[in-house]
Amino acid sequence: MAETGAEVFEEGALVGVLTTQPLDRLLDYRAPEGGCVLGALVEVPLGPRLVPGVVWGPGKGDFDIRKVRSVQRVLDAAPMREEMRQFLTRVADYTLTPMPAMLRLATRAPGLGDAPAMRRVYRLGAAAPQRLTEARARVIEVLGEYGGLALTLGELAEAAGVGASVVKGLVAQGAVLEEDSPRDMPYPRLDPGLHGKPLTADQAAAAQVLRTGVEGGAYGTTLLKGITGSGKTEVYLEAVAACLARGRQALVLLPEIALTGAFLTRVEARFGARPAEWHSGVTMTERRRCWRMVGQGGAQLVVGARSALFLPFRDLGLIVVDEEHDTSYKQEDGVLYNARDMAVLRASLDSAQVVLASATPSLESWANVEAGKYARIELTSRFGPAVLPAMRAVDMRGEALTAGHWVSPTLQRGIAERLARGEQALLFLNRRGYAPVTLCRACGHQIGCDDCDARMVEHRFLKRLVCHQCGATRPMPTLCPSCGAEGRLAPVGPGVERLAEEAQALFPDARVAVLSSDLYGTARALKDHIAAIADGGADIIIGTQLVAKGHNFPLLTLVGVIDADLGLQGSDLRAAERTFQLMRQVTGRAGRGAVAGEAMLQTYQPEHPVIRAILAGDEEAFWRAEAAERRAAGVPPYGRMAGIILSSPDVQAVFDLGNAMARADAPLRQIGAQVFGPAPAPIARVRGRHRVRLLVKADRGVALQPALAAWVAQFRIPANLRLSIDIDPQSFL
Ligand code: ADP
Ligand code: ZN
Repeated sequence: MAETGAEVFEEGALVGVLTTQPLDRLLDYRAPEGGCVLGALVEVPLGPRLVPGVVWGPGKGDFDIRKVRSVQRVLDAAPMREEMRQFLTRVADYTLTPMPAMLRLATRAPGLGDAPAMRRVYRLGAAAPQRLTEARARVIEVLGEYGGLALTLGELAEAAGVGASVVKGLVAQGAVLEEDSPRDMPYPRLDPGLHGKPLTADQAAAAQVLRTGVEGGAYGTTLLKGITGSGKTEVYLEAVAACLARGRQALVLLPEIALTGAFLTRVEARFGARPAEWHSGVTMTERRRCWRMVGQGGAQLVVGARSALFLPFRDLGLIVVDEEHDTSYKQEDGVLYNARDMAVLRASLDSAQVVLASATPSLESWANVEAGKYARIELTSRFGPAVLPAMRAVDMRGEALTAGHWVSPTLQRGIAERLARGEQALLFLNRRGYAPVTLCRACGHQIGCDDCDARMVEHRFLKRLVCHQCGATRPMPTLCPSCGAEGRLAPVGPGVERLAEEAQALFPDARVAVLSSDLYGTARALKDHIAAIADGGADIIIGTQLVAKGHNFPLLTLVGVIDADLGLQGSDLRAAERTFQLMRQVTGRAGRGAVAGEAMLQTYQPEHPVIRAILAGDEEAFWRAEAAERRAAGVPPYGRMAGIILSSPDVQAVFDLGNAMARADAPLRQIGAQVFGPAPAPIARVRGRHRVRLLVKADRGVALQPALAAWVAQFRIPANLRLSIDIDPQSFL
């Protein structure tokens, strides 16, 4: 299995092994019988246990040589390549993450070392089931949905929500086949020679630029900017085709699992088979298969979430980051990395191309284009008859609305018109649940979470109060928890559930559907629901942020933004950018079919520069103004930032350490960086832990990470206190 040219350690030679255990150094072992190669995945004894690791280099020999133990075994998996080891090291240095945590990220699949074995799998048989009970129908349906993917008995029973006996009953009838198949089958071949859709002139020109990049075989990043519906996906699939035709692997990152379904169907139509999938919605069996096949070259294309970046590709030629501006590319716990930026790093190590696709690029990417680091191509018109929606503001100061109502008369008229024509309307409100605040009308108490500095949000579907910070829930009380008054608790403000109630009251005959991530038990249920709505299964769609992310609703012709001002509040330096992107994305949902669309933004400040920029559709002007402000303030992307969050159950301890850190800032002053804080974080308590923030600001181009490391190293961190460093923070909570 050794690659040609790989460094080999003979049996007994000292090797340095990186393990997944939280140790700050490599451990020395002796190479096992038969030797091992550099990068080999191994199992080594550590104390009484066996732990996984990777042969990272020669041993140092600074440990008592008589006590050095032997590598237990070399796992039956492709050795980690030099580029991957470099990638993990560079991400660790950039994000100030210990290497064992990086290795855990790169080996997150179950049973990696187990020998390939046979396992029993299930698929659709030829016979029709006798007596089709509801449970049997679900089994058949799940097998159909998973297409060619193998399911074990446990996975099939769980996905269908039935007992194993139901499956066995179907096997006995021949309606389901049971067979032994090797684990880790290669994925079906994708055929890049099949033809894509005939492209329009500007799509073809864009595709040609991307193809040329891929064929050059070197690193390069291109921003593919194009309004929603302009065919960015069609265009980057041509780059994927060129990559596969060269025999190299491709990776497409999507921000949202619910989007993968529609995308996989498009890949299948384009290349004749489904690609490998990597995200939290795939079964453990498939995860392991994906990890191993990517490493052995049995997977040509992976469609995945951000962590797919850490799969052991053999020869990665292209990474597409779709909706590159999406904040979910930033991992917000554990290893704090931004998958968009790390994709660029990985590609530069692998001599691969990156395509960043978006209708509303991040200011970071925009600035990299200006600086000449990224190329840029643009698609300016929507495909086919679809045109961008007409945009208008609804000035709420002039609308007659009674308290507890949020749909203005102007927006109501718009909805009525669309419904009369059999079209769909979307009401957008980025607030889950029924009402954001529950207030006691007797004493003024607002119900909060016991463990967080946050209000509990009423969810009527669940009949419970939920904390959106920690997830704690409790039944909706009838008495005020503070003064004990009965029947005086009242909802304040709108959430999507309450908005749905209002829409239903206004339009009693309309079918109202709510799209919010918390209302569906599984990603699959959500996907099905979205597909049903796209097919015309609802007249009025009430949606949170979820609807902004690339779903295609052909019948949708009116988007009403309930509160366009919502995102403009708050201290986040990206508030304007986020609002601009979100409004553009949401309003872009309207009119993707043959009928022209319309967008209405309800606002109390129609003269606000961001609202005006959205209405005018003058993106270049918006970005230029935003860039000028950030440049003047010296903040990203024109300056560097790092957030430090200290948290502990002990409020004194976090402030003491925070103050000590602010005083001992010499290592930071040496590079001209400034420290701000400590200050209570905007959400000052989560899960019972008090949170304090410090913010470090520096010029572009300084070596920030080593200075941060030297700064933090001066302190001993008490056991119950957590310190996390967030380089390029995206969220300021
Ligand atoms: P984007 O990714 O920019 O939002 P898509 O690639 O999803 O755009 O295209 C929007 C819709 O238009 C899709 O349904 C797509 O199949 C269709 N489309 C785009 N370009 C073409 C083309 N050249 N021929 C046929 N259909 C196209
Ligand atoms: Zn809470």
